[in-house]
Amino acid sequence: MEEIICIVCPNGCHMQIDGKEQIKVIGNLCKRGEEFAIQELTNPMRSLTTTVRTTSKDMPMLPVRTKGEIPKSKIEEAMMVLNKIEISNSVTCGEVILKNILGCDCDIIATCSLII
Ligand code: SF4
Repeated sequence: MEEIICIVCPNGCHMQIDGKEQIKVIGNLCKRGEEFAIQELTNPMRSLTTTVRTTSKDMPMLPVRTKGEIPKSKIEEAMMVLNKIEISNSVTCGEVILKNILGCDCDIIATCSLII
């Protein structure tokens, strides 16, 4: 039996996973824990927080993040894409820096403003 900790809320329920084809979750206090466990076992998703380069001398790195989550398996590839980006124009906090990264239906947005 595999154990997994739910990270959906601060309760951090310890859940036991039983079965491979018919996944049975035990130990979750609510339905969201079961949904998290099944997602984690079948297609784990993660948000990504990082920085991209800019041409600004005052702010050479701009903090960015995914607007939602992307498959965990795509995080490394997404980092490679973001490492190639250089921002040369002013942006406002929340502005989309890159649309639909890797076709994951998730945008990359700035988490702070940049004035160039
Ligand atoms: S199972 Fe429900 S109560 Fe428990 S950590 Fe997950 S979201 Fe929170």
